[in-house]
Amino acid sequence: MLGNMMKDQLLISGILEHAIQNNGKTEIVSNTVEGGIHRYTIADSAKRSKQLANALTALGIKKGDVIGTMAVNGYRHLELYFGVSGLGAVLHTLNPRLFPEHVEYIVNHAEDKYIFVDAPFLPIIEGVLDSLKTVKGIVVLTSKENMPESKVKNLICYEDLIANESDEIVWPEFDEHTASSLCYTSGTTGNTKGALYSHRSTIVHAWFSSAGNGFNMTPSSIVLPVVPMFHVNAWGLPYAAFMFGAKLVLPGPFTDGESITNLIKSEKVKQLVGVPTVWLDLLNYTEKNNITLDSVETVLVGGSAAPISMIKAFQEKHNAFMNHGWGMTEMSPVGTMNAYKPEMDEMNIEDRYELQTSQGKSIYGCSIKIVDDNGKTLPNDGKTYGRLVVKGPGVIERYYKADQSALEDGWFDTGDVSTISEDGYMRIVDRSKDVIKSGGEWISSIDLENTAVGHPGVAEACVIGVLHPKWDERPLLFVIKNGIEDCDKDSVINFLSDKIAKWWLPDDVIFVEELPHGATGKLVKTGLREQYKNHLINN
Ligand code: AMP
Repeated sequence: MLGNMMKDQLLISGILEHAIQNNGKTEIVSNTVEGGIHRYTIADSAKRSKQLANALTALGIKKGDVIGTMAVNGYRHLELYFGVSGLGAVLHTLNPRLFPEHVEYIVNHAEDKYIFVDAPFLPIIEGVLDSLKTVKGIVVLTSKENMPESKVKNLICYEDLIANESDEIVWPEFDEHTASSLCYTSGTTGNTKGALYSHRSTIVHAWFSSAGNGFNMTPSSIVLPVVPMFHVNAWGLPYAAFMFGAKLVLPGPFTDGESITNLIKSEKVKQLVGVPTVWLDLLNYTEKNNITLDSVETVLVGGSAAPISMIKAFQEKHNAFMNHGWGMTEMSPVGTMNAYKPEMDEMNIEDRYELQTSQGKSIYGCSIKIVDDNGKTLPNDGKTYGRLVVKGPGVIERYYKADQSALEDGWFDTGDVSTISEDGYMRIVDRSKDVIKSGGEWISSIDLENTAVGHPGVAEACVIGVLHPKWDERPLLFVIKNGIEDCDKDSVINFLSDKIAKWWLPDDVIFVEELPHGATGKLVKTGLREQYKNHLINN
Protein backbone atom coordinates (compact mmCIF):
# COMPACT_ATOMS: atom_id res chain seq x y z
CA MET A 1 0.00 0.00 0.00
CA LEU A 2 1.39 3.41 -0.94
CA GLY A 3 1.21 6.41 1.35
CA ASN A 4 -1.11 9.27 0.53
CA MET A 5 1.33 12.12 0.56
CA MET A 6 2.28 14.65 -2.13
CA LYS A 7 4.86 13.64 -4.66
CA ASP A 8 6.56 17.05 -4.79
CA GLN A 9 9.99 16.68 -6.33
CA LEU A 10 13.16 17.79 -4.54
CA LEU A 11 14.55 20.46 -6.88
CA ILE A 12 17.38 22.97 -6.46
CA SER A 13 15.03 25.78 -7.56
CA GLY A 14 12.98 24.80 -4.48
CA ILE A 15 15.95 25.57 -2.21
CA LEU A 16 16.19 29.02 -3.79
CA GLU A 17 12.47 29.79 -3.35
CA HIS A 18 12.58 28.55 0.24
CA ALA A 19 15.63 30.75 0.90
CA ILE A 20 13.99 33.85 -0.61
CA GLN A 21 10.97 33.46 1.65
CA ASN A 22 12.77 32.54 4.85
CA ASN A 23 16.41 33.57 4.67
CA GLY A 24 16.30 36.47 2.23
CA LYS A 25 18.09 38.90 4.56
CA THR A 26 20.97 36.54 5.31
CA GLU A 27 24.25 38.05 4.19
CA ILE A 28 26.73 36.60 1.69
CA VAL A 29 30.22 38.06 1.80
CA SER A 30 32.83 37.48 -0.91
CA ASN A 31 36.46 38.39 -1.30
CA THR A 32 36.55 39.19 -5.00
CA VAL A 33 38.88 38.31 -7.83
CA GLU A 34 38.97 42.01 -8.78
CA GLY A 35 39.99 42.94 -5.22
CA GLY A 36 37.84 44.15 -2.32
CA ILE A 37 34.94 42.72 -0.40
CA HIS A 38 31.49 42.30 -1.93
CA ARG A 39 28.37 42.04 0.23
CA TYR A 40 24.77 41.30 -0.55
CA THR A 41 21.94 39.11 0.69
CA ILE A 42 20.44 35.78 -0.30
CA ALA A 43 17.48 37.74 -1.76
CA ASP A 44 19.88 39.76 -3.98
CA SER A 45 21.70 36.60 -5.01
CA ALA A 46 18.44 34.83 -5.89
CA LYS A 47 17.31 37.72 -8.11
CA ARG A 48 20.55 37.56 -10.06
CA SER A 49 20.33 33.74 -10.36
CA LYS A 50 16.94 34.26 -11.97
CA GLN A 51 18.34 36.92 -14.33
CA LEU A 52 21.08 34.47 -15.24
CA ALA A 53 18.55 31.67 -15.87
CA ASN A 54 16.63 33.99 -18.21
CA ALA A 55 19.87 34.95 -19.98
CA LEU A 56 20.77 31.28 -20.45
CA THR A 57 17.34 30.60 -21.92
CA ALA A 58 17.89 33.50 -24.33
CA LEU A 59 21.19 31.87 -25.36
CA GLY A 60 19.21 28.73 -26.23
CA ILE A 61 20.19 26.67 -23.18
CA LYS A 62 17.73 23.88 -22.48
CA LYS A 63 17.20 21.19 -19.89
CA GLY A 64 20.13 18.73 -19.98
CA ASP A 65 22.62 21.18 -21.55
CA VAL A 66 25.94 21.34 -19.72
CA ILE A 67 27.40 24.67 -18.59
CA GLY A 68 31.05 24.70 -17.53
CA THR A 69 32.43 26.97 -14.80
CA MET A 70 36.03 27.60 -13.85
CA ALA A 71 35.83 29.88 -10.87
CA VAL A 72 36.78 30.31 -7.23
CA ASN A 73 34.42 30.75 -4.27
CA GLY A 74 32.58 33.97 -5.03
CA TYR A 75 29.11 35.41 -5.38
CA ARG A 76 28.84 35.15 -9.17
CA HIS A 77 29.81 31.48 -9.06
CA LEU A 78 27.11 31.00 -6.42
CA GLU A 79 24.53 32.56 -8.74
CA LEU A 80 25.44 29.93 -11.33
CA TYR A 81 24.86 27.13 -8.82
CA PHE A 82 21.17 28.01 -8.65
CA GLY A 83 20.56 29.66 -12.04
CA VAL A 84 21.97 26.79 -14.13
CA SER A 85 20.56 23.83 -12.15
CA GLY A 86 17.23 25.60 -11.58
CA LEU A 87 16.63 25.46 -15.33
CA GLY A 88 17.35 21.74 -15.45
CA ALA A 89 20.71 22.42 -17.11
CA VAL A 90 23.86 20.85 -15.62
CA LEU A 91 26.49 22.88 -13.74
CA HIS A 92 29.88 21.43 -14.61
CA THR A 93 32.57 22.77 -12.28
CA LEU A 94 36.08 22.67 -13.74
CA ASN A 95 39.16 22.58 -11.57
CA PRO A 96 41.66 25.27 -12.69
CA ARG A 97 44.53 23.24 -11.21
CA LEU A 98 44.10 20.46 -13.77
CA PHE A 99 46.59 20.07 -16.58
CA PRO A 100 45.35 21.70 -19.83
CA GLU A 101 45.00 18.29 -21.53
CA HIS A 102 42.70 17.19 -18.69
CA VAL A 103 40.61 20.35 -19.06
CA GLU A 104 40.32 19.71 -22.80
CA TYR A 105 39.36 16.07 -22.25
CA ILE A 106 36.80 16.89 -19.57
CA VAL A 107 35.08 19.75 -21.45
CA ASN A 108 34.77 17.60 -24.58
CA HIS A 109 33.61 14.56 -22.64
CA ALA A 110 31.00 16.58 -20.76
CA GLU A 111 30.01 18.49 -23.94
CA ASP A 112 29.96 21.91 -22.28
CA LYS A 113 27.95 24.50 -24.25
CA TYR A 114 29.27 27.62 -22.53
CA ILE A 115 32.07 28.14 -20.04
CA PHE A 116 31.81 30.79 -17.32
CA VAL A 117 35.27 31.70 -16.12
CA ASP A 118 36.99 33.97 -13.60
CA ALA A 119 39.28 36.37 -15.48
CA PRO A 120 42.54 34.95 -14.00
CA PHE A 121 41.64 31.51 -15.44
CA LEU A 122 40.80 32.78 -18.93
CA PRO A 123 44.30 31.93 -20.27
CA ILE A 124 43.69 28.27 -19.34
CA ILE A 125 40.55 28.19 -21.50
CA GLU A 126 42.22 30.23 -24.28
CA GLY A 127 45.03 27.69 -24.39
CA VAL A 128 42.69 24.79 -25.22
CA LEU A 129 39.84 26.65 -26.93
CA ASP A 130 40.65 25.44 -30.45
CA SER A 131 40.24 21.83 -29.29
CA LEU A 132 36.92 22.34 -27.51
CA LYS A 133 34.32 20.77 -29.78
CA THR A 134 31.00 21.79 -28.24
CA VAL A 135 31.68 25.18 -26.64
CA LYS A 136 29.70 28.03 -28.21
CA GLY A 137 30.89 30.88 -26.03
CA ILE A 138 32.99 31.99 -23.07
CA VAL A 139 31.56 34.25 -20.36
CA VAL A 140 33.92 36.13 -18.02
CA LEU A 141 32.59 36.44 -14.48
CA THR A 142 33.18 40.15 -14.12
CA SER A 143 31.89 43.61 -15.02
CA LYS A 144 32.52 45.57 -18.22
CA GLU A 145 35.31 47.73 -16.77
CA ASN A 146 37.22 44.65 -15.60
CA MET A 147 36.95 42.64 -18.83
CA PRO A 148 40.39 41.25 -19.72
CA GLU A 149 42.15 41.52 -23.08
CA SER A 150 41.64 38.30 -24.97
CA LYS A 151 42.06 36.66 -28.33
CA VAL A 152 38.69 34.92 -27.84
CA LYS A 153 36.15 36.27 -30.34
CA ASN A 154 32.84 37.49 -28.91
CA LEU A 155 33.95 37.11 -25.30
CA ILE A 156 30.86 37.72 -23.14
CA CYS A 157 30.82 39.85 -19.99
CA TYR A 158 28.72 38.27 -17.20
CA GLU A 159 27.32 41.54 -15.90
CA ASP A 160 26.31 42.58 -19.44
CA LEU A 161 24.77 39.16 -20.03
CA ILE A 162 22.38 39.38 -17.10
CA ALA A 163 21.90 43.17 -16.91
CA ASN A 164 18.69 43.50 -18.91
CA GLU A 165 17.08 40.21 -17.96
CA SER A 166 14.00 39.94 -15.79
CA ASP A 167 14.52 38.80 -12.21
CA GLU A 168 11.33 36.80 -12.33
CA ILE A 169 11.02 33.26 -13.57
CA VAL A 170 8.65 30.34 -13.31
CA TRP A 171 11.06 27.49 -12.67
CA PRO A 172 10.45 24.38 -14.75
CA GLU A 173 9.31 21.27 -12.88
CA PHE A 174 10.85 17.91 -13.58
CA ASP A 175 11.83 14.61 -12.01
CA GLU A 176 14.12 15.01 -8.98
CA HIS A 177 16.48 12.40 -10.44
CA THR A 178 17.33 14.85 -13.25
CA ALA A 179 21.05 15.72 -13.42
CA SER A 180 21.96 18.98 -11.65
CA SER A 181 25.75 19.15 -11.61
CA LEU A 182 28.84 17.33 -12.76
CA CYS A 183 32.29 17.03 -11.22
CA TYR A 184 35.22 14.97 -12.46
CA THR A 185 37.30 13.08 -9.93
CA SER A 186 40.77 14.38 -9.21
CA GLY A 187 42.23 11.26 -10.85
CA THR A 188 44.99 10.77 -8.24
CA THR A 189 45.07 7.03 -8.92
CA GLY A 190 43.72 6.75 -12.47
CA ASN A 191 41.84 8.52 -15.23
CA THR A 192 39.51 11.29 -14.27
CA LYS A 193 35.83 10.25 -14.38
CA GLY A 194 32.61 12.23 -14.10
CA ALA A 195 30.28 12.10 -11.10
CA LEU A 196 26.88 13.33 -12.32
CA TYR A 197 24.81 14.45 -9.34
CA SER A 198 21.02 14.73 -9.41
CA HIS A 199 18.73 17.29 -7.77
CA ARG A 200 17.66 14.65 -5.29
CA SER A 201 21.19 13.47 -4.43
CA THR A 202 22.37 17.07 -4.02
CA ILE A 203 19.51 18.03 -1.75
CA VAL A 204 19.52 14.98 0.49
CA HIS A 205 23.31 15.16 0.80
CA ALA A 206 23.31 18.87 1.71
CA TRP A 207 20.47 18.33 4.16
CA PHE A 208 21.86 15.24 5.91
CA SER A 209 25.42 16.57 6.13
CA SER A 210 24.17 19.85 7.63
CA ALA A 211 22.64 18.23 10.69
CA GLY A 212 24.05 18.77 14.18
CA ASN A 213 26.44 15.82 13.87
CA GLY A 214 27.83 17.32 10.64
CA PHE A 215 28.20 20.89 9.40
CA ASN A 216 25.60 22.00 11.94
CA MET A 217 24.07 24.68 9.72
CA THR A 218 21.63 27.02 11.47
CA PRO A 219 20.51 30.64 11.00
CA SER A 220 23.23 31.69 13.45
CA SER A 221 25.99 29.91 11.52
CA ILE A 222 28.71 32.03 9.89
CA VAL A 223 30.59 29.61 7.68
CA LEU A 224 33.75 30.10 5.65
CA PRO A 225 34.20 27.32 3.09
CA VAL A 226 37.77 27.29 1.84
CA VAL A 227 36.88 24.03 0.10
CA PRO A 228 36.56 25.12 -3.51
CA MET A 229 33.28 25.59 -5.34
CA PHE A 230 35.11 24.11 -8.34
CA HIS A 231 35.35 20.67 -6.70
CA VAL A 232 32.39 18.61 -5.42
CA ASN A 233 30.24 21.72 -5.01
CA ALA A 234 32.25 22.95 -2.00
CA TRP A 235 30.98 19.89 -0.11
CA GLY A 236 27.38 21.01 -0.66
CA LEU A 237 27.69 24.10 1.56
CA PRO A 238 26.23 26.62 -0.92
CA TYR A 239 22.99 24.61 -0.96
CA ALA A 240 23.06 24.01 2.79
CA ALA A 241 23.58 27.70 3.59
CA PHE A 242 20.52 28.65 1.50
CA MET A 243 18.44 25.86 3.06
CA PHE A 244 19.18 26.82 6.65
CA GLY A 245 19.95 30.53 6.44
CA ALA A 246 23.64 30.33 7.31
CA LYS A 247 25.83 33.32 6.42
CA LEU A 248 28.36 32.36 3.74
CA VAL A 249 31.79 33.97 3.76
CA LEU A 250 33.51 33.19 0.45
CA PRO A 251 37.30 33.68 0.28
CA GLY A 252 37.65 34.19 -3.49
CA PRO A 253 41.16 33.39 -4.68
CA PHE A 254 42.75 34.30 -1.33
CA THR A 255 43.20 31.16 0.78
CA ASP A 256 46.53 31.98 2.46
CA GLY A 257 46.72 32.24 6.26
CA GLU A 258 46.72 36.04 6.36
CA SER A 259 43.68 36.51 4.08
CA ILE A 260 41.68 33.83 5.89
CA THR A 261 42.58 35.37 9.27
CA ASN A 262 41.40 38.79 8.06
CA LEU A 263 38.07 37.38 6.86
CA ILE A 264 37.57 35.45 10.10
CA LYS A 265 38.19 38.60 12.09
CA SER A 266 36.04 40.96 9.98
CA GLU A 267 33.06 38.58 9.65
CA LYS A 268 33.35 36.86 13.06
CA VAL A 269 33.36 33.49 11.34
CA LYS A 270 32.25 30.57 13.52
CA GLN A 271 32.76 27.56 11.23
CA LEU A 272 35.72 26.91 8.94
CA VAL A 273 35.62 24.17 6.30
CA GLY A 274 38.69 23.01 4.39
CA VAL A 275 41.53 20.57 3.81
CA PRO A 276 44.50 20.12 6.21
CA THR A 277 47.05 22.05 4.10
CA VAL A 278 44.95 25.21 4.31
CA TRP A 279 44.66 24.89 8.09
CA LEU A 280 48.38 24.29 8.42
CA ASP A 281 48.99 27.62 6.71
CA LEU A 282 46.43 29.33 8.93
CA LEU A 283 47.99 27.85 12.08
CA ASN A 284 51.48 28.93 11.01
CA TYR A 285 50.32 32.46 10.27
CA THR A 286 48.43 32.90 13.53
CA GLU A 287 51.32 31.38 15.50
CA LYS A 288 53.93 33.68 13.94
CA ASN A 289 51.74 36.75 14.47
CA ASN A 290 50.44 35.77 17.87
CA ILE A 291 46.79 35.90 16.77
CA THR A 292 43.89 34.01 18.37
CA LEU A 293 40.84 33.17 16.29
CA ASP A 294 38.30 33.92 19.03
CA SER A 295 35.10 33.69 16.99
CA VAL A 296 35.86 30.23 15.53
CA GLU A 297 33.96 27.40 17.21
CA THR A 298 34.47 24.52 14.79
CA VAL A 299 37.00 23.67 12.09
CA LEU A 300 35.72 21.06 9.66
CA VAL A 301 38.58 19.19 8.07
CA GLY A 302 38.64 16.47 5.42
CA GLY A 303 40.03 15.53 2.05
CA SER A 304 43.18 14.15 3.69
CA ALA A 305 43.83 12.91 7.21
CA ALA A 306 44.15 15.59 9.89
CA PRO A 307 47.28 15.15 12.03
CA ILE A 308 46.87 15.09 15.82
CA SER A 309 49.20 18.12 16.12
CA MET A 310 46.65 20.17 14.12
CA ILE A 311 43.66 19.00 16.18
CA LYS A 312 45.55 19.90 19.34
CA ALA A 313 46.73 23.29 18.07
CA PHE A 314 43.20 24.42 17.15
CA GLN A 315 41.86 23.32 20.53
CA GLU A 316 44.65 24.66 22.71
CA LYS A 317 45.52 27.88 20.84
CA HIS A 318 42.11 28.88 19.46
CA ASN A 319 39.63 26.96 21.60
CA ALA A 320 38.18 25.53 18.37
CA PHE A 321 36.97 21.95 17.97
CA MET A 322 38.24 20.10 14.93
CA ASN A 323 35.52 18.00 13.32
CA HIS A 324 37.31 15.47 11.15
CA GLY A 325 35.29 14.16 8.21
CA TRP A 326 35.86 11.87 5.27
CA GLY A 327 34.29 11.49 1.85
CA MET A 328 34.95 11.56 -1.84
CA THR A 329 33.79 13.09 -5.13
CA GLU A 330 31.69 9.98 -5.82
CA MET A 331 29.81 10.54 -2.54
CA SER A 332 28.73 14.19 -3.00
CA PRO A 333 31.18 14.09 -0.95
CA VAL A 334 30.52 13.64 2.80
CA GLY A 335 30.44 10.13 4.27
CA THR A 336 31.55 10.43 7.88
CA MET A 337 32.14 13.18 10.43
CA ASN A 338 33.58 13.26 13.91
CA ALA A 339 31.45 15.91 15.62
CA TYR A 340 31.77 16.92 19.25
CA LYS A 341 29.95 14.54 21.61
CA PRO A 342 29.32 15.09 25.33
CA GLU A 343 31.23 11.91 26.26
CA MET A 344 34.37 13.60 24.96
CA ASP A 345 34.29 15.82 28.06
CA GLU A 346 34.75 12.74 30.22
CA MET A 347 37.86 11.68 28.35
CA ASN A 348 41.48 12.35 29.11
CA ILE A 349 42.38 15.13 26.65
CA GLU A 350 45.13 13.16 24.87
CA ASP A 351 42.68 10.25 24.35
CA ARG A 352 40.14 12.70 22.98
CA TYR A 353 42.62 14.10 20.46
CA GLU A 354 43.45 10.55 19.42
CA LEU A 355 39.74 9.82 18.94
CA GLN A 356 39.46 12.98 16.81
CA THR A 357 42.07 11.61 14.39
CA SER A 358 39.43 9.01 13.47
CA GLN A 359 37.30 10.15 10.52
CA GLY A 360 34.20 9.71 12.67
CA LYS A 361 30.81 8.10 12.25
CA SER A 362 28.76 7.81 9.09
CA ILE A 363 26.19 10.54 8.62
CA TYR A 364 22.57 9.53 8.20
CA GLY A 365 22.02 8.59 4.55
CA CYS A 366 25.42 7.01 4.06
CA SER A 367 25.92 3.39 5.10
CA ILE A 368 29.47 2.13 5.49
CA LYS A 369 31.04 -1.29 6.03
CA ILE A 370 34.38 -3.01 5.51
CA VAL A 371 34.81 -6.14 3.40
CA ASP A 372 37.62 -8.52 2.47
CA ASP A 373 38.81 -9.15 -1.11
CA ASN A 374 35.95 -11.61 -1.63
CA GLY A 375 33.33 -9.10 -0.54
CA LYS A 376 32.74 -10.78 2.85
CA THR A 377 31.72 -8.30 5.56
CA LEU A 378 34.39 -7.89 8.26
CA PRO A 379 33.76 -7.19 11.95
CA ASN A 380 33.45 -3.70 13.44
CA ASP A 381 36.02 -4.25 16.17
CA GLY A 382 38.29 -1.25 15.58
CA LYS A 383 41.18 -3.58 14.69
CA THR A 384 40.24 -5.55 11.57
CA TYR A 385 40.84 -3.55 8.44
CA GLY A 386 39.32 -4.05 5.02
CA ARG A 387 38.04 -2.34 1.89
CA LEU A 388 35.67 0.46 2.83
CA VAL A 389 32.42 0.25 0.82
CA VAL A 390 29.49 2.67 0.96
CA LYS A 391 25.90 3.08 -0.17
CA GLY A 392 23.26 5.78 0.01
CA PRO A 393 21.28 8.33 -2.00
CA GLY A 394 24.30 10.64 -2.29
CA VAL A 395 26.59 7.90 -3.63
CA ILE A 396 27.32 7.39 -7.32
CA GLU A 397 25.77 4.40 -9.11
CA ARG A 398 27.83 4.73 -12.32
CA TYR A 399 30.31 7.21 -13.78
CA TYR A 400 29.12 9.71 -16.37
CA LYS A 401 28.57 8.04 -19.75
CA ALA A 402 29.79 4.66 -18.40
CA ASP A 403 27.87 1.63 -19.63
CA GLN A 404 28.42 -0.35 -16.49
CA SER A 405 27.44 0.17 -12.91
CA ALA A 406 30.28 1.14 -10.56
CA LEU A 407 28.81 -1.03 -7.79
CA GLU A 408 29.55 -4.50 -6.49
CA ASP A 409 26.61 -6.19 -4.76
CA GLY A 410 24.98 -2.78 -4.51
CA TRP A 411 27.92 -1.15 -2.71
CA PHE A 412 30.52 1.34 -4.01
CA ASP A 413 34.16 0.47 -3.27
CA THR A 414 35.86 3.68 -2.10
CA GLY A 415 39.40 2.42 -2.75
CA ASP A 416 40.18 3.23 0.91
CA VAL A 417 41.21 0.72 3.56
CA SER A 418 39.78 1.31 7.03
CA THR A 419 38.71 -0.05 10.39
CA ILE A 420 35.32 0.56 12.04
CA SER A 421 34.98 0.37 15.81
CA GLU A 422 32.13 -1.28 17.70
CA ASP A 423 30.47 2.09 18.22
CA GLY A 424 30.84 3.15 14.59
CA TYR A 425 34.07 5.21 14.48
CA MET A 426 35.69 4.74 11.07
CA ARG A 427 39.44 5.17 10.73
CA ILE A 428 41.10 5.42 7.33
CA VAL A 429 44.22 3.26 7.31
CA ASP A 430 45.24 4.21 3.77
CA ARG A 431 44.30 4.33 0.12
CA SER A 432 44.41 0.67 -0.94
CA LYS A 433 47.08 1.63 -3.50
CA ASP A 434 49.23 3.47 -0.94
CA VAL A 435 49.23 0.99 1.93
CA ILE A 436 52.69 -0.58 2.43
CA LYS A 437 52.78 -4.36 2.55
CA SER A 438 55.79 -5.31 4.63
CA GLY A 439 56.33 -9.03 5.30
CA GLY A 440 52.62 -9.76 4.96
CA GLU A 441 51.63 -6.99 7.43
CA TRP A 442 50.28 -3.56 6.52
CA ILE A 443 51.83 -0.21 7.34
CA SER A 444 49.69 2.91 7.00
CA SER A 445 51.47 5.61 5.01
CA ILE A 446 48.95 8.15 6.37
CA ASP A 447 49.78 7.34 10.01
CA LEU A 448 53.49 7.61 9.31
CA GLU A 449 53.07 10.93 7.49
CA ASN A 450 50.92 12.41 10.21
CA THR A 451 53.30 11.32 12.95
CA ALA A 452 56.28 12.75 11.04
CA VAL A 453 54.67 16.21 10.67
CA GLY A 454 54.58 16.39 14.47
CA HIS A 455 58.42 16.84 14.35
CA PRO A 456 59.07 20.54 14.97
CA GLY A 457 61.29 20.83 11.88
CA VAL A 458 58.97 19.11 9.39
CA ALA A 459 56.60 21.05 7.13
CA GLU A 460 55.23 18.16 5.06
CA ALA A 461 55.82 14.43 4.85
CA CYS A 462 55.07 11.73 2.30
CA VAL A 463 55.56 7.99 2.69
CA ILE A 464 55.65 5.38 -0.07
CA GLY A 465 56.31 1.65 -0.11
CA VAL A 466 59.39 0.60 -2.11
CA LEU A 467 60.78 -2.80 -3.01
CA HIS A 468 62.76 -4.68 -0.39
CA PRO A 469 64.56 -8.01 -0.97
CA LYS A 470 63.36 -9.55 2.30
CA TRP A 471 60.13 -7.79 3.31
CA ASP A 472 58.61 -7.19 -0.19
CA GLU A 473 58.03 -3.53 0.61
CA ARG A 474 59.39 -1.09 3.16
CA PRO A 475 58.44 2.53 3.91
CA LEU A 476 60.48 5.42 2.50
CA LEU A 477 59.84 8.85 4.03
CA PHE A 478 60.13 12.13 2.11
CA VAL A 479 60.31 15.31 4.15
CA ILE A 480 60.07 19.02 3.39
CA LYS A 481 61.77 20.98 6.16
CA ASN A 482 59.97 24.00 7.61
CA GLY A 483 63.16 25.88 8.43
CA ILE A 484 62.01 26.53 12.00
CA GLU A 485 64.00 23.77 13.73
CA ASP A 486 66.92 21.58 12.66
CA CYS A 487 65.91 18.33 11.12
CA ASP A 488 68.03 15.47 9.78
CA LYS A 489 67.47 11.76 9.23
CA ASP A 490 68.53 10.75 12.76
CA SER A 491 66.34 13.33 14.47
CA VAL A 492 63.30 12.27 12.40
CA ILE A 493 63.86 8.56 13.13
CA ASN A 494 64.43 9.34 16.82
CA PHE A 495 61.26 11.40 16.91
CA LEU A 496 59.24 8.59 15.36
CA SER A 497 60.73 5.74 17.36
CA ASP A 498 58.64 6.12 20.54
CA LYS A 499 55.45 6.92 18.61
CA ILE A 500 55.08 4.02 16.22
CA ALA A 501 55.87 0.29 16.18
CA LYS A 502 59.57 -0.38 15.56
CA TRP A 503 58.90 -2.31 12.37
CA TRP A 504 57.02 0.71 10.96
CA LEU A 505 60.14 2.94 11.10
CA PRO A 506 61.04 4.15 7.57
CA ASP A 507 64.13 2.53 6.07
CA ASP A 508 65.32 5.88 4.76
CA VAL A 509 64.45 9.57 4.97
CA ILE A 510 64.90 11.76 1.90
CA PHE A 511 64.76 15.55 2.16
CA VAL A 512 63.09 17.34 -0.76
CA GLU A 513 62.11 20.90 -1.65
CA GLU A 514 58.72 19.92 -3.06
CA LEU A 515 56.24 17.05 -3.09
CA PRO A 516 53.86 16.25 -5.95
CA HIS A 517 50.24 17.28 -5.39
CA GLY A 518 47.19 16.66 -7.58
CA ALA A 519 44.52 19.14 -8.60
CA THR A 520 42.70 18.88 -5.27
CA GLY A 521 45.85 19.28 -3.20
CA LYS A 522 46.34 15.61 -2.34
CA LEU A 523 49.75 13.93 -2.53
CA VAL A 524 50.15 12.02 -5.79
CA LYS A 525 52.52 9.16 -5.08
CA THR A 526 52.63 7.34 -8.42
CA GLY A 527 55.65 9.26 -9.81
CA LEU A 528 57.65 8.92 -6.58
CA ARG A 529 56.89 5.20 -6.43
CA GLU A 530 58.18 4.74 -9.95
CA GLN A 531 61.28 6.87 -9.41
CA TYR A 532 62.27 5.35 -6.07
CA LYS A 533 61.03 1.76 -6.41
CA ASN A 534 64.60 0.34 -6.34
CA HIS A 535 65.98 2.83 -3.80
CA LEU A 536 66.52 0.22 -1.08
CA ILE A 537 67.79 -2.38 -3.50
CA ASN A 538 70.36 -0.12 -5.17
CA ASN A 539 71.56 1.64 -2.01
P1 AMP B 1 38.34 13.22 -3.68
O1 AMP B 1 37.39 12.42 -4.45
O2 AMP B 1 39.31 13.98 -4.51
O3 AMP B 1 37.63 14.09 -2.71
O4 AMP B 1 39.25 12.20 -2.84
C1 AMP B 1 38.65 11.26 -1.99
C2 AMP B 1 39.71 10.52 -1.21
O5 AMP B 1 40.41 11.40 -0.33
C3 AMP B 1 39.16 9.46 -0.30
O6 AMP B 1 38.85 8.27 -0.97
C4 AMP B 1 40.30 9.29 0.70
O7 AMP B 1 41.32 8.47 0.19
C5 AMP B 1 40.83 10.70 0.83
N1 AMP B 1 40.28 11.34 2.03
C6 AMP B 1 39.23 12.16 2.12
N2 AMP B 1 39.05 12.58 3.38
C7 AMP B 1 40.00 11.98 4.13
C8 AMP B 1 40.35 11.98 5.52
N3 AMP B 1 39.72 12.72 6.41
N4 AMP B 1 41.39 11.20 5.90
C9 AMP B 1 42.09 10.45 5.03
N5 AMP B 1 41.82 10.43 3.70
C10 AMP B 1 40.79 11.17 3.26
